[in-house]
Amino acid sequence: MTMTITGEPKTNTVPYSDFAKFENQEITITGTVHNIRMMSDFAFVILRTARETIQCVYAESFSDYRMPPELKEECAVKLTGKVVAGETKDGGKRYEIQIHGIDILSHPAEIPPVVITKKQVQCDLNTDLDYRPVTLRNPKERAVFKFQEGIQRGFREYLMSQGFTEIHTPKINFAGAEGGANLFGLDYFGKKVYLAQSPQLYKQALVAVYERVFEIAPVFRAEHHDTSRHLNEYISMDFEMGFIDGFEDIMNMETGVLKYIMNLLKTEYKNEVELLRADIPEITEIPVIKFMEAKEILMKKFKYKPSDMKDFDPEEEQLLGKYAKKQFNSDFIFVTHYPSRKRPFYTMDDPDDPEYTLSFDLLFRGMEITSGGQRVHDYFAQVEKMKRLGMNPDEFDTYLMLHKYGAPPHGGLGLGLERLTMHLLGFKNVREAAMFPRDINRVTP
Ligand code: ATP
Ligand code: MG
Repeated sequence: MTMTITGEPKTNTVPYSDFAKFENQEITITGTVHNIRMMSDFAFVILRTARETIQCVYAESFSDYRMPPELKEECAVKLTGKVVAGETKDGGKRYEIQIHGIDILSHPAEIPPVVITKKQVQCDLNTDLDYRPVTLRNPKERAVFKFQEGIQRGFREYLMSQGFTEIHTPKINFAGAEGGANLFGLDYFGKKVYLAQSPQLYKQALVAVYERVFEIAPVFRAEHHDTSRHLNEYISMDFEMGFIDGFEDIMNMETGVLKYIMNLLKTEYKNEVELLRADIPEITEIPVIKFMEAKEILMKKFKYKPSDMKDFDPEEEQLLGKYAKKQFNSDFIFVTHYPSRKRPFYTMDDPDDPEYTLSFDLLFRGMEITSGGQRVHDYFAQVEKMKRLGMNPDEFDTYLMLHKYGAPPHGGLGLGLERLTMHLLGFKNVREAAMFPRDINRVTP
């Protein structure tokens, strides 16, 4: 008979969370030898599994089995042994395995170039990034990206519960959406095209189709400087929603998203939160101030002399973070009504004061993590604004189909995944929150 495939998923290991069910029984698990200490008649093996490390002990008295002398760190193994319970400091149970047998599935050719068996990888950030495929094996380091999964999952789950549709928009585009000098140009069969700086123009088009859409995907910014907050490729969590009454609807949705994410992290990612000592904020409400109010606070309260009255520099963002903490006991603060001249062409100007826009940024612990706002939905208003900004509307005819053929009032935002991760985990450098970061000097590994 020919072979058939039934779709039965492979389960070859018992997760630590199930060990209680197997107390005093023999089980077989798979994993990698993370750390090993061999004495003549006694050994400790720390086995690294998908999300945990499991302590396994060997003593000659356990069985007739004898440890293979060729077993070393980073060997992939199938390990059989008895689950036994020990006591933790707080009276709970901690399980370990008494080794009865080890089947070595693979041997590393060389020992790792950096020490990954200690709590923290033992090298500087640059070396760590050079060896990321290896350094990510360190339990603490890999926990960062499990934790980051939790953030994306929270974003997705919450928005889906609010009737959003998940989309994927092209990353090779005819024009940039966000302006500025940070576009990556690309030769596309002899034509000049650009890597997407954001999904902005497409997510707007899709508001007229699905009303509420979101995307979690990479975006590209040719940042010409080497800073601790910029990557050249980062993950943008975007959403866009139609039929809004104002941009407050967007800020409310974002606050709901963030509350959901924080709760998910505290519950389903508890081990990672503890291992990383993540500082998860309690969010009840987020204070809102206007851009010009913020500038006044900076000048009056902090005696700061702004170099640019159209935007904030990093130091100003830090001071506003301090202000939010002191004044409102909040790690977050929304700043609204940014000057029209600093916001992209799709931003709606405030009809009461067109020098300013119906837009906002969200600062978290003193750094921008989100820009958002209401967009222009009227065709004539959008064409007029483009012309005023020196743009040629004819070059944007596909984008303007949205407006020409009718669009609901709408708005949305972009939230930088690595920036949010960075500040939840207290990192000084955004690169630590990117699995394989791309910056001005780095395209490998
Ligand atoms: P900044 O002023 O901090 O450079 P921006 O205003 O240029 O950011 P936006 O275009 O508003 O960035 O992008 C939305 C969000 O995407 C930002 O709030 C931030 O969280 C994130 N972000 C933007 N650029 C980068 C980057 N180069 N690396 C990592 N995250 C970024
Ligand atoms: Mg911004």
